[in-house]
Amino acid sequence: MLNTRDSAKEYLFYFFDSFKFPLLRTKLYSSDTLIVLNLHAINIKNKVENCLDVSIFDDLCKWLKINFEILHFQDLEDPEFLNCSKPKMILSFDDGCFNFIENVLPVIKSNNIKCNLNLIGYSLKTQVPPFTICLSDALRCIDDSTAEYIEISGFTPTVSPLKRRALWDIEVLNYLKMRSIESREKILNNSDGRLQRLIDDCKEETKMMSAADVNNLSKLVELGNHSYSHESMAFQSYDYFKEDFFKSRDVFDENNISSDIYAFPNGSYRKDMIDFLYKEGVKYILLVNELKNSAKNSEYNRITFYANSLAEARVRASGILNK
Ligand SMILES: [Zn+2]
Repeated sequence: MLNTRDSAKEYLFYFFDSFKFPLLRTKLYSSDTLIVLNLHAINIKNKVENCLDVSIFDDLCKWLKINFEILHFQDLEDPEFLNCSKPKMILSFDDGCFNFIENVLPVIKSNNIKCNLNLIGYSLKTQVPPFTICLSDALRCIDDSTAEYIEISGFTPTVSPLKRRALWDIEVLNYLKMRSIESREKILNNSDGRLQRLIDDCKEETKMMSAADVNNLSKLVELGNHSYSHESMAFQSYDYFKEDFFKSRDVFDENNISSDIYAFPNGSYRKDMIDFLYKEGVKYILLVNELKNSAKNSEYNRITFYANSLAEARVRASGILNK
């Protein structure tokens, strides 16, 4: 059920869409414009807002196919694609949840469009989700009244989970993921023990893709490295980042997966880490930053993508809301 605030937002998206603003915006882009949408799981009914229904995604793909040239990153070096007159679009999925095979792949195949998928080395090796996904799985299972009484050391939410649960969940996630591993462990040790137990005992753990799943994917899917640990790298040491990169690359090598794409987890990075990736031969470095790109970039901003209706999906995908 949408609350009043969400209904008002949906009405605005519907208004913009019915006057064809998204379509008009795509017509005004130059052929050099590149929009990279950053998508996560599809059809998961999370309390966290980043959700997208399969049918909306399917309709959006049909609309994008008409108005954009949908590419892989490696196509950005191909003059045939670069010189076409439409603006460029890349659909960039992160994490490698099994949900991709169930809900995304059929839509990608039936519309015959390309996408990028960035995999987590640790999850590929063990099929266990990283901390951020375990935490959001646990949050999905915690009811609002339990959430209200969970004390997290140093955490002061701006809203009560009883009033705006989705926002409260996002605040908990950001509080615990945007920091070093050591500082997160300290917080968890000093917090209500129920939170750690709820994470450890979560009955709805997200299923991750195995190497066999990855090797059976369609050629429409261009693979990228999304780190080994999925930690927020801006908060880790340079040495940790280097080790993490090598560990993930080893998992890719062991499974005959080749890639020259690296997507920073949680959009978190430092400049010295970007320099390191170039030295290691990574060609396409994916950030988030909620910005559009020129097709000639080598570091790519992505736009966090979610939508509750097709109108909202078209408005967000057209980049109207982003610089
Ligand atoms: Zn991720």
